[in-house]
Amino acid sequence: MIDQHLEQMLLTNKRKFMIPASLVATVNVTNSLDHAFLVLTKDHYAKIVVVDNDNHYRGLISLSMITDHLLDTHKIAINRLQKLVVGDVMQTNAPVITNPFDVEENLHLLIDQSFLTVVDDDQHFRGIVTRRELLKAVNYTVHNFAHFYQVQNK
Ligand code: AMP
Repeated sequence: MIDQHLEQMLLTNKRKFMIPASLVATVNVTNSLDHAFLVLTKDHYAKIVVVDNDNHYRGLISLSMITDHLLDTHKIAINRLQKLVVGDVMQTNAPVITNPFDVEENLHLLIDQSFLTVVDDDQHFRGIVTRRELLKAVNYTVHNFAHFYQVQNK
C-alpha cells in the first residue's frame, strides 16, 4: 500500500497522468499490415493501440509482431504486408486499466509495459498512461517531498 501523502504528491499533476485518446496514434483492427508498419515507423512508437470502428480497444501492435509474421525459413515474405491485417498479428493479452489515477496499479504494471491502455466499462478506448509521465510524477515527488513533509525516524 502506498503512503497517502506520497500518493497525493504523485497525483499533483493529475491532468497529465493520462494522454487522452484524441492525442494517441492508433490503428484499426481491419487495417492492412503495411498501414500499421507505416504508422509505427513514421511515428517512432515501439507499440501502438488497436481499436475497432466503434472505438473499442482490441489490442496492441508493434513492429516486431509484424516482422515476426513476415519471416519465412530463408526469406522475408514482404507480400504478406498487404495480405494480412492488424487483427491477424496484434497482441490481445496486454493488461488494460480503467482508473488512470490508481498509482499503485500503474506502478506495478508499468514495470513490464512502457504504457497502459485505459478503457471505460464498455471497453471504449479512453487514453494511455505512459511510463514517462509516471516517472515525471515520481521525479517530482522524490525531489519535493521534503518541502512539504518532515520525516521522523521510528
Ligand atoms: P513514453 O513513456 O513517452 O516513451 O511512451 C511509451 C510508449 O507509449 C511509446 O513507445 C509508445 O508505444 C506509446 N506512446 C506514447 N505516446 C503515444 C502517443 N501519443 N500515441 C501513441 N502511442 C504513444
